[in-house]
Amino acid sequence: MIFPQFSDKIEKLIEFSALGATMLATLTHRKEVVFMSLPPCPNCSSEYVYQDQEMLICPECAHEWNPNEVPEEDDVITAKDANGTLLADGDKVTLVKDLKVKGSSQVLKIGTKALIRRIVEGKDHQLDCKVDGAGEMMVTAAFVKKA
Ligand SMILES: [Zn+2]
Repeated sequence: MIFPQFSDKIEKLIEFSALGATMLATLTHRKEVVFMSLPPCPNCSSEYVYQDQEMLICPECAHEWNPNEVPEEDDVITAKDANGTLLADGDKVTLVKDLKVKGSSQVLKIGTKALIRRIVEGKDHQLDCKVDGAGEMMVTAAFVKKA
């Protein structure tokens, strides 16, 4: 024999679990959809990024970011060497032709080594270089090749 107050409680319990299962199914489904369309975490490359309104959140390193605001460090300035190879800060290069140093009679010989300290925006003289035997100067990317 079931007491009326107990049967009422059991019904509520069943309703509650059914609701829980539906919510879980919805969440699981949403996660699958979200996983495929969101970019990986820029901080730790985790793929389990999820969206909360405007923000993307990484559950692994707790990094939060707004995908509509492109961070400045992502706006990388690049330059291509004489062979069309992409150059980056810290690359070692050699000169592919003799270069006259502006405002002096100095000539940087072909084959001179240089280290790219920084790449700046511009049509030429994009490379802020430390040139062997000549010191710091701006060099045009098309006149060097990656070492
Ligand atoms: Zn992360």
